[in-house]
Amino acid sequence: MTARVTRTQVGIIGAGPAGLLLGQLLARSGVDAVVLENRSREYVEARQRAGVLEHDVASLLRELGLADRMDTEGIEHGGIYLQFDGERHHIDFHDLAGRSVWVWAQTEVVKDLVAARLAAGLALEFEVSGTAVHDLTADEPRMTYRSADGEQRELVCDVIAGCDGFHGPSRAAVPAGLLTVSERVYPFAWLGVLADVAPSTDELIYAHHPDGFALHSVRTPEVSRLYVQVRPEEDIADWSDERIWAALQTRLGLPGWTLHEGPIREKGITPMRSFVAAPMRHGRLFLAGDAAHIVPPTGAKGLNLAAADVVVLAQALVAWLVDGDERLADSYSDTCLRRVWRATHFSWWMTSMLHTPPGQDPFDARLQLAQLRHVTSSRPAATDLALRYTGQPLP
Ligand SMILES: Cc1cc2nc3c(=O)[nH]c(=O)nc-3n(C[C@H](O)[C@H](O)[C@H](O)COP(=O)(O)OP(=O)(O)OC[C@H]3O[C@@H](n4cnc5c(N)ncnc54)[C@H](O)[C@@H]3O)c2cc1C
Repeated sequence: MTARVTRTQVGIIGAGPAGLLLGQLLARSGVDAVVLENRSREYVEARQRAGVLEHDVASLLRELGLADRMDTEGIEHGGIYLQFDGERHHIDFHDLAGRSVWVWAQTEVVKDLVAARLAAGLALEFEVSGTAVHDLTADEPRMTYRSADGEQRELVCDVIAGCDGFHGPSRAAVPAGLLTVSERVYPFAWLGVLADVAPSTDELIYAHHPDGFALHSVRTPEVSRLYVQVRPEEDIADWSDERIWAALQTRLGLPGWTLHEGPIREKGITPMRSFVAAPMRHGRLFLAGDAAHIVPPTGAKGLNLAAADVVVLAQALVAWLVDGDERLADSYSDTCLRRVWRATHFSWWMTSMLHTPPGQDPFDARLQLAQLRHVTSSRPAATDLALRYTGQPLP
């Protein structure tokens, strides 16, 4: 079948946070892009994932005119609680770092980005299939795909942005041997639930417990997001709502504090891994977000790293495609990877400090408690956590 051929400056694979945000940043500088997504609009707008925006990522959305709903419906959090050994301690981000985070779900960020792109008449195609990339080291790389109505298409580009998440085709298109992969698979997973009950806390509670980690997160004033550490091979069918609430009550419970229960709307198990592929560029293909790196969710960094990548990428592509200056594109991978590794370290550190590995050595358990006590009693240590949680400044 002959493909219909069209042209754009930047072909973006993936309408997740990375691809959509990149599209907005490029449009602001007059760079043309087409975003291709293999799922439906309804699917990407409903997919439950991250929920915490770093200080500067929230500011970026404001700067792009994408924060009206976040500012009215989202919740600013000025800290988190760390709980261990029957005590709950507050880490005050405002006081320690002069910064905050925003509790505003990834699904809502995606809804606003999709709406803004479509309202501006910018190209965004859902339900495409067979997306493939070609000629990545040539001057005009190409993407081929089948549109939702079954037409075979070819998109000729100046540059391709692989924003297609961990399982997308971009990273896999880099020839074998050119990418170095660094990986750590953790011996636990998170069982997460979305519950129709008002949060029992004003800010997130990260709880260390001998039975395993638990997190009380927040979605809206009416909806709670809660997690318990489970084994990676755990079957969700073995976790009735009663069993989940019982585990949460045990791990989060404190005398004088009540965890309110409610109907569980959604539940799922997410394995935890750290993964970094380098470099994040091959010829005219640039990887961004989960396509290049994954962090365990304990540090709330996944979505924020995706945003930071595309801020760097947008600057680089505007300099290259508008001003003919390729230097930022050449340094894209190194610039991003410095931040990625700092976030990878922070996410690993939070994960290691708070989770109880199977068959944990009592010595390691004492070390975790010593670390938690240090972070909650030393102002420099707490400040370091506050600065890292609220995020490095965006470039
Ligand atoms: C189940 C789960 C729970 C998570 N929870 C948290 C959390 O609590 N806190 C946190 O900070 N982070 C969390 N994360 C991580 C965070 O959500 C990701 O880091 C973030 O989604 C990265 O954005 P992205 O745009 O790079 O990738 P994605 O959001 O994965 O977007 C990639 C897009 O590409 C599309 N795509 C894939 N293949 C193709 C193709 N062939 N053609 C066209 N399009 C394609 C996908 O459908 C998707 O829409 C979670 C991730 C998962 C998977």
